[in-house]
Amino acid sequence: MRVLVVEDDQTLQEQLQSSLTKKGFAVDAVGTGQDALYFGAEFPIDVSIVDLGLPDMSGMDVIKQLRAQDINFPILILTARTRWEEKVAGLEAGADDYLEKPFHTEELLARMNALIRRSAGVATPQLVCGAITMDTSAQQVVVDGTPVELTAYEYKMLEYMMLHSGRVISKTEITEHIYDQDFDRDSNVIEVFVGRLRKKLDPDNQHKPIETLRGRGYRFSIPLNA
Ligand code: CA
Repeated sequence: MRVLVVEDDQTLQEQLQSSLTKKGFAVDAVGTGQDALYFGAEFPIDVSIVDLGLPDMSGMDVIKQLRAQDINFPILILTARTRWEEKVAGLEAGADDYLEKPFHTEELLARMNALIRRSAGVATPQLVCGAITMDTSAQQVVVDGTPVELTAYEYKMLEYMMLHSGRVISKTEITEHIYDQDFDRDSNVIEVFVGRLRKKLDPDNQHKPIETLRGRGYRFSIPLNA
C-alpha cells in the first residue's frame, strides 16, 4: 500500500518514513501543502497522513482541496492541537480520522490499516478469500490452516490483490501501489512475484487464485470475505 506522509517536521517525517517502510508501506514523504497536492493528484495513493501545521498552507486546506478534486483516498490527520473544534473541522474538511501528537506508532498503524480496509469495504482485520486468510494486524497469511511465509513485497502485492479481488489489475497499477516514487520499476519483477505467490498460495494448483489476462494484467479470482 502506498502512503503519502505530509509532515514538515523533518525528524518526525523521517521517523514515519522509516517505521512505515519497515511495516511494508511504500512511502512518499513531503513537507509542504503544495507538494502534498501534487503527489495526491499525480500518484495512486492508498492512504495519507496529514499534519495540520504546514509552512505554506494549513493541512486543513490541503484536505479540502484534495476532496474538491474528487481525490478520495483515506486521510488521517496528525495534530498537536487538542481543541475538539479543530478535530471536528478536520473531519468536516474531508479527513477520515485523526491522531494527536505525540502518538504511538502501533496506534497509527492500526488506524491506517483500518482506513485502508474500510475504503475497500472490509470492516475486520481479517481478509478472507476462500482458503486464503490474511491477518492484516499480525501480517500473517494462512492457506488451508497452514501459515505461509511471504517476503515483504509478496505480502504487499497479495494484500493489494485481495483488497481488489475480482477486478483486473495491470502490472503498472501493482507497481505503483507497492513501490514509492524512488524505486526503479521493472514490470518483469511483478511477473516473478506473481509466480512465487502462486507457488506459495497454491502449491498443488487447485485454487488458482491469480488469473493472468494476457496483455491486461491479473485478476485475483476468489471473492473477498464472501
Ligand atoms: Ca507541522
